[in-house]
Amino acid sequence: MSGPSRRIVIIGGGLSGLSAAFYIRKYYKEAGIKPDIVLLEKDKTLGGKIETLHRDGFVIEKGPDSFLASKTEMIDLAKELELDHELVTTNPKAMKTYVLQRDKLHPLPSGLVLGIPTELKPFLSSGLISFGGKVRAMMDLILPRQRSGEDESLGQLIERRLGTEVMENLTEPLLSGMYAANIHEISLQATFPQFGEVERKYGSLIRGVTAERKSNKTVLSTMSNTLLTFRKGLQSLVHSLIHELHDVEQRTEAAVVSIHSSGNTSASYELELENGERLLADGIYITTPNSVAAELLRPHLDVSALDAVNYVSVANLVMAFNKKDIAIEDDGSGFLVPFKEGRNITACTWTSKKWLHTSPDDKVLMRCHVGRSGDEQNVQLPDEALTELVSKDLREIMGITAKPIFTEITRLEHSMPQYPVGHLGNLSEFHRELEKALPEIYVIGAGYDGLAMPDCVKQAKLTAQSAAKRLMN
Ligand SMILES: Cc1cc2nc3c(=O)[nH]c(=O)nc-3n(C[C@H](O)[C@H](O)[C@H](O)COP(=O)(O)OP(=O)(O)OC[C@H]3O[C@@H](n4cnc5c(N)ncnc54)[C@H](O)[C@@H]3O)c2cc1C
Repeated sequence: MSGPSRRIVIIGGGLSGLSAAFYIRKYYKEAGIKPDIVLLEKDKTLGGKIETLHRDGFVIEKGPDSFLASKTEMIDLAKELELDHELVTTNPKAMKTYVLQRDKLHPLPSGLVLGIPTELKPFLSSGLISFGGKVRAMMDLILPRQRSGEDESLGQLIERRLGTEVMENLTEPLLSGMYAANIHEISLQATFPQFGEVERKYGSLIRGVTAERKSNKTVLSTMSNTLLTFRKGLQSLVHSLIHELHDVEQRTEAAVVSIHSSGNTSASYELELENGERLLADGIYITTPNSVAAELLRPHLDVSALDAVNYVSVANLVMAFNKKDIAIEDDGSGFLVPFKEGRNITACTWTSKKWLHTSPDDKVLMRCHVGRSGDEQNVQLPDEALTELVSKDLREIMGITAKPIFTEITRLEHSMPQYPVGHLGNLSEFHRELEKALPEIYVIGAGYDGLAMPDCVKQAKLTAQSAAKRLMN
């Protein structure tokens, strides 16, 4: 390639950083620009939150475990890497999710979308909501709509429309499983804007979500809940990206500590690494958690939009058992625990039921989650104490008394970003100011515009695409 070359530094080697490198290569080249990319990762390995462990015939995810098929960016990336033949989906025979209520597991009624009933019969016969709670939920059909379109918390919307019981017993545990979030603090617009749109359009969540579901309309397309992963684990995507990016300088144990204007005509910026080394760059993609990005950018602009996003710490305990020692519902993939139940575990995935490729036939694999907003203290407990608390819950909820064959504990400190109400507005203002103050520096990743893996890939792709377009003009 004979076009102009551009030195791009990517800070952070998680999924956002790796997919940014992939799409910068693709779109800059298409724009006739030769990208000279350096990827800098603080840790010893690339992949960030994604980590798969292969042990004794089990496939164990220590971080994320799957992604929604309806957000297509992960599938598109897998296709571009020729890895789509490795995609697998959940066991169709284990589709039920259970919810703990007063020490008993109840199946979630079918037809629920984040707690909103779209099939009335299963909802009305569910033991998870009292008669009064069901009557209150049905008031959604007659309550006046809110027209303003202003952001509010997800909890506020669900409680306003469907009442406290639906919010506490159905939506909160479902949301906690995804975001480890406080439902009253997390932004509706930054997480599930579809529901705000549905209320404005139909005047009722039940009526609107039911109608949109029936007609398969796009407003709810992201609610379709088919999950996918890779047969050998999510880390195969990371390995495939590392292999594909052979012409990118990939450096680990290379933490960036500051960014300055270079004062040099050959490049706009100078980055300083923890070891004192300095690097020049024409463009920079920051893909780290918000607190790191905020420290790098604080000398240059107002970073209050980044400071406003708190991170929650979580842990998970993956336990393997002999099948003969454990009784699990055949039709289920695990259970959720509402905050008000006051348990140590927030959710438990029956991994070997949900994902058939993860375990030998005569074994059972389970993943118990600990930690959510307002309940993070257990995450820091020593292994033995944490295992004891989780085992107590499993004993009382599922009657498990057998000793696990092994337990793998993973702590992910400050790992779950909590988008506050108003986050999207604050973020777009921040991006505008960033572009003015530091052209060609971009901030993408889980802490910004969607925390699920497809959201991270999407941010990387769209940012590289529009940056390349801008450079062409
Ligand atoms: C427990 C858990 C379960 C999850 N489950 C799912 C799931 O099932 N499905 C789903 O879609 N999503 C899930 N997610 C979300 C998803 O895993 C993340 O959003 C995604 O992996 C984040 O990728 P990232 O590259 O933006 O951030 P990260 O993976 O955090 O990568 C950022 C990288 O930046 C590096 N870094 C930090 N500071 C510096 C520095 N100064 N210099 C250089 N490098 C630095 C870090 O070491 C890290 O490697 C889950 C998240 C968690 C925590």
